[in-house]
Amino acid sequence: MIRFTLAALTFILGQTGLAETLLVGTQEEYENAVDALEPGDTIVLENGEWRDFEILFTGRGEPDNPITLTAETKGEVVITGQSNLRLAGEYLVVSGLVFRDGHTPTNTVISFRRTRGDLAYHSRVTETVIDHFNNPERHETDFWVMMYGKNNRFDHNHLVGKSNAGVTMAVRLDSEESQQNHHRIDHNYFGPRPVLGSNGGETLRIGTSHYSLTDSFTVVENNFFDRCDGELEIISIKSGSNTLRGNLFVESRGTLTFRHGNGNIVENNVFLGNGVDHTGGIRVINFDQVVRNNYLHGLTGHRFGGAFVVMNGVPDSPLNRYFQVDNALIENNSIIDSDHIELAAGSDEERSATPVNSVFRSNLIYNEDQRNNVTVHDDIGGIDFSGNALNEVEDSPLRDGFVNSGIELRQAANGLLYPVDEALAETGVTEDLQVLDRSSTGVSWYPKPGPDNRFDTGETIEVEPGLDTLTDAVSFAGAGDIVSLAPGDYLASKVIVLDRPLTVRAAEGPATIEFERTALFELAEGGSLKLDGVTISGRSAPDISGNSAVRTSRHSMVNNYMLIVENSTVEDLDMNYSFNFFTPAKHTFADRIEITDSSFRNITGSVLALDKEIDDLGIYNGEYISITGSSFRNIEGAVADIYRGGTDESTFGPHFELRSSTLEAVGYGSRNKSEASVRLHGAQDTDIADNEFVDSRPVRVRHIVGEPVTVMSSNRFVGTPEPILIEFSP
Ligand code: CA
Repeated sequence: MIRFTLAALTFILGQTGLAETLLVGTQEEYENAVDALEPGDTIVLENGEWRDFEILFTGRGEPDNPITLTAETKGEVVITGQSNLRLAGEYLVVSGLVFRDGHTPTNTVISFRRTRGDLAYHSRVTETVIDHFNNPERHETDFWVMMYGKNNRFDHNHLVGKSNAGVTMAVRLDSEESQQNHHRIDHNYFGPRPVLGSNGGETLRIGTSHYSLTDSFTVVENNFFDRCDGELEIISIKSGSNTLRGNLFVESRGTLTFRHGNGNIVENNVFLGNGVDHTGGIRVINFDQVVRNNYLHGLTGHRFGGAFVVMNGVPDSPLNRYFQVDNALIENNSIIDSDHIELAAGSDEERSATPVNSVFRSNLIYNEDQRNNVTVHDDIGGIDFSGNALNEVEDSPLRDGFVNSGIELRQAANGLLYPVDEALAETGVTEDLQVLDRSSTGVSWYPKPGPDNRFDTGETIEVEPGLDTLTDAVSFAGAGDIVSLAPGDYLASKVIVLDRPLTVRAAEGPATIEFERTALFELAEGGSLKLDGVTISGRSAPDISGNSAVRTSRHSMVNNYMLIVENSTVEDLDMNYSFNFFTPAKHTFADRIEITDSSFRNITGSVLALDKEIDDLGIYNGEYISITGSSFRNIEGAVADIYRGGTDESTFGPHFELRSSTLEAVGYGSRNKSEASVRLHGAQDTDIADNEFVDSRPVRVRHIVGEPVTVMSSNRFVGTPEPILIEFSP
């Protein structure tokens, strides 16, 4: 399609004889050239790095004679530093640029407007890459793409690694000039967006609640959403008359949500969760929505993040709450091996308006294990069920309008599963549903990222004991390398700063590391650490308060990190007070912290002090925190102090697990403000099992928001008060 367009353009240039192609090598040359552009002209940026370049691309092309901004070679013009792009005018085309190694100094990287009153129309951004172009302040909000104006197209672009706050891409309807816009967003690659740990991590939003009763007429088709995890909403529709079709969602946490606005169509989309936590499907709210012929498979999400959710509304809802579901058409969807379907979800005193005038027909709900996955939260008499099928579910709450008997599935040529039984031929998705070809999205010249294998993928570097031998080895280790310690004593005279993932392993015999600065390891941007079999001692640490064995950078970090501790010993972090094993900074975020088969003793601070986000804004410090098979003795602070405050419901975690571990004399230090051996404030998913607590402060759990699940089982409490669980009271 692209080749065709360029060929067409060349043809037109030949026809007019007036069109010019201008190659520019500096920002000054660009600015001079752009002022003089005529319809059909092309301005070409020379290959190389363009630093601190705020590109303003304005002009008036003609329907078959656009003005084009492109790269000398696609992919070899790299815009870095404090840079961005604004388009204003009409019939403009931008292609081939890469935004990398920097961030926008304004609130947007690519904006389809110059000012509030000067917008872009009939314009197109294509084959452009935005790669980790993040503000270094994690919670400084900005946006990668903002569409304004009308009849614009954003296609075949590659957006990967948005990690700071702010939706990746949005369609704005904030003036008449941007409403009923008929934009097209197609064939883009929306690559991995890590968990943000806060609201504001949507990948695509169309509209805002304020203009949500306005039609947008935006088409979102054939896009690939790959691991778009940011928050509960992958796509948030907040306007009317949009069509989302033919998109592919793979292992993306969250859902496509009809948040506000009416008369939207979601059809022919494929959601593949592959059993990944919190992967969801479609959530229906508002009037006149159509959900047709979507294929949803292997989705694990629950509550508002389930595979399929129909919400209750608020009677006479204000714009920013929940309108009642009215006249929804839900047909021919296949929901296969997924954990949760929620009907009349969110039913409570405020959300009391049940779905009405709605149709649910010819849908296939299949779970191989015949388990019921449907929860009905309120009256669903306003939904007319017919021609649906269930796979012999014994205790299904759905009866009328369902055939409920054993179903055999077969895989069709398109890779999707269909009932073998001819009688069910009209149930579930149609045979002609096409699964998006991933290679048709994004650009061919910029690779899509593979799986996130952070550790143990590189070389092994052997290290001998001594002063700074470990420090020196780390300094030339590459990402994924293993630093292997020979038995003996190691001393670090400097903080070892990690900006890449690294394993430090002692495989042959005891290796003890001491350190002379306020921390042994510091995780900087891009850093992750795995400790395996080592002993860390605080004996040589400075005699001041607030040391750490491991800490993050003291500044905000946009890259999420991992910290894994296995088969290791941590002892004598008791030089002065408040000596933690691990101290993250505010506005840093752990994807995962795991402590396994390890021993901690004589510590004057906490082991994991994830209590730095105290502003109650729904922000927290880590997603999965897991401790198993480990022992903790004589710890003055808490083993884990995890804080997630605020009532915002856009996030998934924190998740906390403590299993098969022993805590003895934990939590009694006078500086332990948590007054707990384990404090969980606002965690969403907690599993504390098979542990022994001896002469320790109690476990304190406080439920703050959502429907948190706390399971405590088979724990022994000796000389330790029973856990204190305080339920959420709004
Ligand atoms: Ca949100």
